[in-house]
Amino acid sequence: METGEKQGEGWHGQWCHCGKLARMQTSWTSSNPGRRFLVCPKSKGRGEKGCRFFQWFDAEMCERSKSLIHGLLRKIDRVEKENAKIRAKSKILWAAMLLSWLVVFAMKMN
Ligand SMILES: [Zn+2]
Repeated sequence: METGEKQGEGWHGQWCHCGKLARMQTSWTSSNPGRRFLVCPKSKGRGEKGCRFFQWFDAEMCERSKSLIHGLLRKIDRVEKENAKIRAKSKILWAAMLLSWLVVFAMKMN
């Protein structure tokens, strides 16, 4: 059965128990990082669970892949934090420059 390929990308040909096309989501839990799963399209966060349909789409990852993804995620996190620090620093720098310019301007006015 290769019918799934003909329906275009994103097609996963799985209906939930209420007859809707299941929605694909990506898990970011530590035990299943980046693993895709299908849920009822009516399930939107807490409370609304639709028909509680749930099915893994991707096969379970081996421990090696899991630890690799974890390492990468940690790296991205670190880089993003560093970026935020740099952005904050440059903001302060700009503010200081603007302030010193204003001081010079104010002194000239007097
Ligand atoms: Zn459903």
